[in-house]
Amino acid sequence: MNQYYLYILIKNGISELSAIIEYPKLRQQQIEEWDLDDLQTVEGWIALAKKVIHQSNCPDLIKKPICKKCSYYNFCYATESDSNGIN
Ligand code: SF4
Repeated sequence: MNQYYLYILIKNGISELSAIIEYPKLRQQQIEEWDLDDLQTVEGWIALAKKVIHQSNCPDLIKKPICKKCSYYNFCYATESDSNGIN
C-alpha cells in the first residue's frame, strides 16, 4: 500500500525515488523502493477502487478485527438509521 505514495510522487515528476516510512509508536522504519512492477500493481488498485466507487450498492462488510481501529469505521458500519438521524 505504501507504493501508492511513491506512485503519486512519480506521477508528479519525481523519479528514482525510495521512501522511508516511519512508525513512531512502534519505533520502526520501513524503506520502500519503487519497482517497475509496482506501476501495474498500483494502477490495478486504482481500477479496483474506481469499480467499487461506481457500484450501485456498497460491498458487503468484511468484518475484520482491524476495522475497530480503522479511520473509516463509522462510514463502513453506519446503518440507514444512522444516516437519517434516526437511532
Ligand atoms: S472499517 Fe476500515 S478495514 Fe474495515 S472494512 Fe471499513 S475501511 Fe476496511
